[in-house]
This record gives sequence, C-alpha cells and structure tokens, in this order.
Amino acid sequence: MTSDVSAQGRPPGSTLVTGIGELVTNARANEGPTRSGHNSDDDLGIMRDAALVISDGVVAWVGPSQDAPPADRRIICAGRAVIPGFVDSHSHVIFAGDRSAEFAARMAGQPYTAGGIRTTVAATRAASDEALRRTAAGLTDELVRSGSTTFEIKSGYGLTVEDEARSLRIAAEFTSETTFLGAHVVPADYAGDRRGYLDLVTGPMLDACAPQARWVDVFCDRGAFDADEAREVLTAGMARGLVARVHANQLQHGPGVQVAVEVGAASADHCTHLSDADVLALADSTDTPTTTVATLLPGAEFSTRSPYPDARRLLDAGAMVALATDCNPGTSFTTSMPLCIALAVREMHMTVAEALWAATVGGATALRRADVGRVAVGAPADLCVLDAPSYVHLAYRPGVDLMHQVWRNGVAVHHRRTDWINADG
Ligand SMILES: [Zn+2]
Repeated sequence: MTSDVSAQGRPPGSTLVTGIGELVTNARANEGPTRSGHNSDDDLGIMRDAALVISDGVVAWVGPSQDAPPADRRIICAGRAVIPGFVDSHSHVIFAGDRSAEFAARMAGQPYTAGGIRTTVAATRAASDEALRRTAAGLTDELVRSGSTTFEIKSGYGLTVEDEARSLRIAAEFTSETTFLGAHVVPADYAGDRRGYLDLVTGPMLDACAPQARWVDVFCDRGAFDADEAREVLTAGMARGLVARVHANQLQHGPGVQVAVEVGAASADHCTHLSDADVLALADSTDTPTTTVATLLPGAEFSTRSPYPDARRLLDAGAMVALATDCNPGTSFTTSMPLCIALAVREMHMTVAEALWAATVGGATALRRADVGRVAVGAPADLCVLDAPSYVHLAYRPGVDLMHQVWRNGVAVHHRRTDWINADG
C-alpha cells in the first residue's frame, strides 16, 4: 500500500499540514440538519489557504496557513483540497462467494429479490475463518484507500449461532462499529419454521453475538421480516444493550421506517420507497434525542437498476440524510464512497455539498458518533487529501480515484505517490 515509514505507525511529535487550498471542516456539524437541507459551502465550514496540526493522532490546531504554529515536520498540500474522512455506516464485508453471474442475469432483465442473500449464506457457512478474514481485509483496505476512515460491518451471511458469532468476531478485528444482522432473511433450513428462527435470533444467537456487537439490525421488507418480527428482533437486541438500525423500505412501501423511528433506531437504511408519513417521521425525529437518519445507498439502486430514493424530498423536509456504500456481494459490490457521492448528485439531485455532508456528518450521525466526520480540534485526524482543488471534484470527476492521501488517527494509511512529503526538519 505504501512504503513510507509513517504508514508503519504514528510519527512522534507534531505534523503541520499546510498549503491546503480548500479545507472542509464541517464546522457546523453540531447544529444538526437545517430545514432547507445543506446547499452551500457555508454549511461545510470551508476554509481557503488553510493549515492544520496533527499531534498524538488528533487535530491539535486548524487555521489560516499564514498563522500556523511551528511543528516537528511539515507536509505541503500545494493547493489540494482536504476533507474529513468518509464515514461509511453500512457495509456487509464478511462473506464468501461471488454473485457476478446473478448481477449479469439481472442486467439481462431478471428482477432482484431478497432471496439472493441465501446464495451468499451457503458460501459463507462453507468458508474458513481465514477465507472470511482475507476477504474482509481486502475490502476494508479498499474502503480506506477510497477515503473511508470509519466504517460499520454487519454479520448476516452466517445465520447460524456459530456462523453469526464468528462473522462478528472477524468484523470486530476491523472496526468497533459491528452490527448483528441475524435477521437478514429466514435461512433455507428454517423455511417452514419462521417462529423457530425468530426464537433463535432473539435467543441463543443474540446471546452469542451481543458481546461482539454494538448494533442490532433487521431487514424489514418483502421477502424478509414484517413489522412485528422486526420489532421483536430490535427490542430483544436493545434489551441486551445494542442500538437499533433497520434495513427499511428498499424493495417496496412498508413499515420499516416507522418501526425504526418508533424504537429510536439510529438509522433507517435504503429508504427507497417512502410515504409522506415516513418522510415526516424521519424529519420529526431530528427534533428528538434519537434522530433516525435516512441512510441512502445508491450503489444498491445502481447495481439492481432500480429507481433511486428521493433524496430531495427527505432533505427538503428536514430529515438527516447519510450516504453509505452497502458494500455486499449481491446488490452493491462497491467500497467507493466517491461513487456514492457522484450517484447522489447526478441521480438523486443532491447538491455536491449535501452529498459530502451526508457521506461524513450524515454517516457519523447514523453511527451516533460526534467525534468523526469533521475536522475539529480534539477530533481524530481522519482526513483525505484530494488530488483536486475542491471537494466538488468528487462528483465532477466520476469514477476517478482522487485520493492522494488518506490519514486515519494521524497515520498516513494510504498515499498514492511519495513526492508529497516535504519534511523541513
Ligand atoms: Zn445492507
């Protein structure tokens, strides 16, 4: 990935990052969503000709280049834009198998159904721990290289007590944002016994998984779980200290969003088919201590050739919107938040500022994290240095890798070239 010594560990002392042409701070992140959405650079807290100091893995100073304090080393960005690392609040990177044939068939006209998940379940159960770990390592490396410095990982392709527990054990090696998704679908071995599977998910499977999970999730949609079943799964998880999130309203109108808001879930994910009442419930939740973020996953609509969610309707109503990759082998096999931003802008009519906000602050809010998704004194130094003068290029240059460097907790975990470091002593 990189030959620079800084990738081996955090450098001692302080690092001045200067010559930043455009620094996105998301300085207004604590103010919550505005009723008119986020349309302007003001909302992103943009600074021109800026600098920042990193010390002990966190941002220690932010301000104009000309006022920068001395530091132990200096990195000159030469006018490049710097943005907060993306927060990808929805991924499924613990799996085995390949569904490219299913994708090709879908592109040839076959519809997507939730049942495709069972193909991956069979392959995942048959895989060794080492194979699952290797896939997760490769995909999380992709996530980081495309700018995601915080990411969530779900179980949900094991669907036995042992396979869900090991999925979460392996996920926890890569992130603290782990989600128990035993209620992804009813597996084939319980096809005639939904009640039995729900008892398993809310009983022994939850017992085995809760210690490794922060979140509990359920796929509340056609072909998966209904409202009562979803409530049962979420409340059981919440009773064990997990926080709820819901796969909601991806395939059709349904109760998923309402259940999510009702239980105080951190996020309702997909939100492709929404009623007026759903939009209102999401918007109203921003006035409560338990905001339910509408997490939009345009990679899924892109990869299933489905209509995109109506982001404008959500933003204009005042809902908090996040963007995430939904990286999974069936319906959105991408790790690229920049692709999701480009789709959100081009296909979902979000402004570029709204899309970047959703991919950073939105994702952080969907994970109930106030420390990430922004550049602020005291926050982890999670940064992307773009090979571009402005964040707008993330949508303006679709499909182009603009990640010049990615910093995570003050460590340069990825950089494309070695000529960017200008160490001045
Ligand atoms: Zn998902």
